[in-house]
Amino acid sequence: MNAEIIAVGSELLLGQINNTNARFISSQLTELGINVYYHTVVGDNAGRLEEIIVRAEERADLLIFTGGLGPTKDDLTKETIAKHLGTTLKQNDDAMNMIEGFFAKRNRPMTENNRKQALVLKDCEVLENANGMAPGMFLEQEGRIYILLPGPPKEMEPMFQFEAKPKLARLVSDGGLIVSHVLRFYGIGEAELEERVQHLLEEQTNPTIAPLAGDGEVTLRITAKANTEDEAWALITPVREQILTAAGDYLYGVNDESLASKLANMLIDHNLTIAAAESLTAGLFQSELATVPGIGEVLYGGMVTYNEDMKVNQLGVPKELIERYTVVSAECAASMAINIKEKFGSQIGVSLTGAAGPGPHANHPVGTVWIGIVFGDDEPVTYELHLQGMRNTNRIRAVKTAIYRVIQ
Ligand code: ATP
Ligand code: MG
Repeated sequence: MNAEIIAVGSELLLGQINNTNARFISSQLTELGINVYYHTVVGDNAGRLEEIIVRAEERADLLIFTGGLGPTKDDLTKETIAKHLGTTLKQNDDAMNMIEGFFAKRNRPMTENNRKQALVLKDCEVLENANGMAPGMFLEQEGRIYILLPGPPKEMEPMFQFEAKPKLARLVSDGGLIVSHVLRFYGIGEAELEERVQHLLEEQTNPTIAPLAGDGEVTLRITAKANTEDEAWALITPVREQILTAAGDYLYGVNDESLASKLANMLIDHNLTIAAAESLTAGLFQSELATVPGIGEVLYGGMVTYNEDMKVNQLGVPKELIERYTVVSAECAASMAINIKEKFGSQIGVSLTGAAGPGPHANHPVGTVWIGIVFGDDEPVTYELHLQGMRNTNRIRAVKTAIYRVIQ
């Protein structure tokens, strides 16, 4: 099945909002193994919308529309589709009850144009809108599927996920089911990972393997179609094993795990306490860990010693050490990690220091970062990074790398 996602709305063309709906729907369709070949954006104009529908029908068998289902004059998606398909709009009782209920609850009078929202394509299946008034629509006609979704993401996303996606899943799996398993890697480039699993990428049809890269992380999504959950896992498991043989060293998590949640849960499960001394990241490492609920018992906190004197006065890094090696050094990172661990009485001490940019720091090129990690009474371990991004990208990368190194 090949899809085209058609976002309707002049505000998209005027540059007032990003087309996040297309992005969301695309990622959802990818999970189902449905190819998305085109994203189209068209203004609130019936003639141009119809042109797009004609073109989309030539190149896709699944047409997904977002926007223009509202009560106002410029909302004309369903009217245009009805006209194009030679069908009509009819009132849907459930939708009408919902809209009337909406106004009754708020003690507001209902206007005539709100009634328009209860009109849906004749013969469609109605998709319930749990967060707004406009119902969505799912229509199969002449071998094609038309899905109409409202524009506001908070209405569209749950409607797609809970109403439309299960219907599509049933269609693409011929009554079976689809199981996805995501492997998450860090510390390996997308190109290298792909090269290592190239043979699998080329051979696989069921399960399929879809790579995705971003923010220094790479994921591989393994998706199987089968009749039962067990059957799906029987397809996924050997492929997963082969991927791990090729690149398992870089695996940090699966499915929805993030680097931060992985480390946080590891610390919580083993009751390991941690403190951080941060220079270039200025608290970002701790802030990342703090996104995970339940971290309070094991994240003791830390110090932001951005300024050189503060590293000496507050954290206790020897002045001579900094004079000799500078703050962008393994020696400084090690001293920061040890000192924060001792000051806070934690089991693990982590430090981040480096030149975030835009300028070099005492002859150290931009992007040079040192990470220090010390566990209990062990010798501290240090890592040098040479990051290539802009200032804030480098700071985020430094944090991610530090988290990844502690996990290992
Ligand atoms: P409403 O009943 O709110 O009018 P609608 O289905 O008619 O909903 P639109 O009028 O087209 O939808 O868009 C309403 C709002 O939804 C837009 O102002 C915008 O904030 C958001 N929106 C619309 N399309 C998109 C899109 N493609 N991506 C992200 N947001 C969108
Ligand atoms: Mg609208």
